[in-house]
Amino acid sequence: MHILQHLGAKLTSVLCTHHHWDHAGGNVELIAKKPGLAVFGADARIPEINYVVKDKEEFKIGNVTIQALWTHCHTKGSISYYAKDGAERAVFTGDTLFLSMYLYIFRTSSPQPGHAPVKESAQVACVE
Ligand SMILES: [Zn+2]
Repeated sequence: MHILQHLGAKLTSVLCTHHHWDHAGGNVELIAKKPGLAVFGADARIPEINYVVKDKEEFKIGNVTIQALWTHCHTKGSISYYAKDGAERAVFTGDTLFLSMYLYIFRTSSPQPGHAPVKESAQVACVE
C-alpha cells in the first residue's frame, strides 16, 4: 500500500494466477483494507475471489486489456494473464513455467521443488 501511495496509483484489482499462499495469501488483508476490490482468478480456493474468469475471457482494468489463459498444471486452477496496453504486452504466469522462461532462468539449475513440468508454450498449456 505504501508503494502505491508513493506512485500515486490506485489499487482496484488483484489478478490471482492460483491459490497458493505466496500468490493469494494477502487477499484477505487487502479486502479488509480496500473493500470492493476486484479479485480475479479461476479457482474457488483463491481467498476472497469475487470474479471467476474463463479461458480466453477478456476484460479491462483501466486502459489495459487482460485476457485470461487457462494454464493448469502447476495447480488445477492455474490461469495466466496476457495484458495489452497499446503496443505494450506482458504475460503474468504465476508459477507456471514455459520452456523459453525455463531456458532463460534455469539454464544451470532446475525449477523449484513442487513446480509442475515445464510447458512448451502457452498455447500447448491451454489445450492439455
Ligand atoms: Zn504456486
